[in-house]
Amino acid sequence: MTQTAEAKSERGGDGPELLTSHDPRTGEVVGRHPVHSADDVAAAVRRARDASTHWAALDFDGRRARLDRWRKLLSRRADELCALISAETGKSADDARLEVAMVLDHLHWAAKHARKTLGRRRVATGPVMHNHAATLEYRPFGVVGVIGPWNYPAFTPMGSLSYALAAGNAVVFKPSEHTPGVGRFLADTFAEAVPEQHVLQVVTGYGPTGAALCGAGVDKLAFTGSTATGRRVMAECARTLTPVLVECGGKDALIVAEDADLEAAARGAVWGGLFNAGQSCAGVERVYVAEAVADAFVELVTRKAATLRPGGSPDADFGPITMPKQVDVIAAHVADALDRGATAAVGGRESIRPPYVEPVVLLDVPEDAAAVTEETFGPTLVVNRVADADEAVRRANALRYGLGAAVYSKARGEELAARLRCGVVSINSVLAFASVPALPFGGVGDSGFGRIHGEDGLREFTYAHAVSRQRFAGALDPMTYERGNRTVRRVLRLVRVLRGR
Ligand code: NDP
Repeated sequence: MTQTAEAKSERGGDGPELLTSHDPRTGEVVGRHPVHSADDVAAAVRRARDASTHWAALDFDGRRARLDRWRKLLSRRADELCALISAETGKSADDARLEVAMVLDHLHWAAKHARKTLGRRRVATGPVMHNHAATLEYRPFGVVGVIGPWNYPAFTPMGSLSYALAAGNAVVFKPSEHTPGVGRFLADTFAEAVPEQHVLQVVTGYGPTGAALCGAGVDKLAFTGSTATGRRVMAECARTLTPVLVECGGKDALIVAEDADLEAAARGAVWGGLFNAGQSCAGVERVYVAEAVADAFVELVTRKAATLRPGGSPDADFGPITMPKQVDVIAAHVADALDRGATAAVGGRESIRPPYVEPVVLLDVPEDAAAVTEETFGPTLVVNRVADADEAVRRANALRYGLGAAVYSKARGEELAARLRCGVVSINSVLAFASVPALPFGGVGDSGFGRIHGEDGLREFTYAHAVSRQRFAGALDPMTYERGNRTVRRVLRLVRVLRGR
């Protein structure tokens, strides 16, 4: 059992073991939740199995009406949800508000577009099979397990929950041990808006509760978290051949080309690197700036980052580091970079004041330093000079991570973006892709595979069901032993005429 300073278990009298979440800003208790055992998880999956039949039978309109009710309830109680997110993660009020705004927009999109994306449609059969009709539809798996991280405790799991539910699945959700209250809030509001059956349930606990969900007979498991845990989840799911969606970490690069709007690029780099205290899977961690504009860009970034302060008040620029052990990782990356010849344009070793880390901007960091190759997950930026935008692309593509990226260029944005090996790119902005519900989100390489959001995100929680129907007997029917002895030869001749040149 992973157990940390701010999420400790205790026993509630004679009752079940309890998990306590704490506010990382103050250490105050936010809430207590059961540590669900493997038996509890199996029971939740059984209830979900029953509910899945009802939910699938509602069809798209029935589900849309219910998901819309849930969305409106979440919207009415948005302030409460924002406060809970801030309490369990420590994030600033504005960072929590942005998260909830994106939750509502995605939930709306998923419910609205499910029928068009997944509903039954005819597909062309082609000249060889002209006597057949064909239809395709995408059917829900049944029960989907969702395991989520703490850094966006509502937005990230909702990328799976909204789309899995809209596609017709029942869901069992295991939130991070740091943010069980947010998970409970999502399940409780769903039950209030959609009281009929256990369509969305939450199970709380530590890693073993998540591991139990992987092996509890769900039909698909959607995991968002670190690459290391993603590997463990895949291995556990492999035992039962349970398909997985794996959304892992990143080390996203921002490229500043020679012709970039430097003011906009500096604004994007500083916000993309520091918002939510840098604890964003697709946050900016590395900046590659073309030599010709590097001095001016560094000056702008330095000026902007130096004015920002973390803190515990709702209007702080950003909050604390949510997980205490992450502070050690950030400190190690900063120290290693400085020891190896990097310079600090903003902050330095002294910026680490747990639970807060002040902005750190590191210049000229060796490309094999941990600050360049591993997820730092803190309010730090590496800014390295490169000869030109082409070298920036090469360096951006050099890691095994491949989640997101940003490109600032007036003339070459699309060309540079097309050459980046990653799942999502913003041109002349940062992280805009995450706010466009129609765009699929996910990575390649160590950042995982599969997609949430958009049409791909809906299909991710379905399987294709394909049907062909013979409308009339064809002149050539090769798929019967009643065929004449020249039939197959004629079919091959026909296909060679049609497809052979
Ligand atoms: P972790 O990998 O530590 O945990 C993720 C979830 O997995 C938690 O709910 C955790 O539970 C659970 N878990 C832990 N061990 C197991 C196990 N053996 N089997 C099943 N589940 C388990 O990630 P963090 O919570 O620290 O989240 C931060 C990471 O998430 C970063 O790497 C970040 O980049 C990534 N992330 C990726 C996103 C994306 O869309 N690509 C979006 C947001 C974050 P518990 O917390 O109780 O241990």
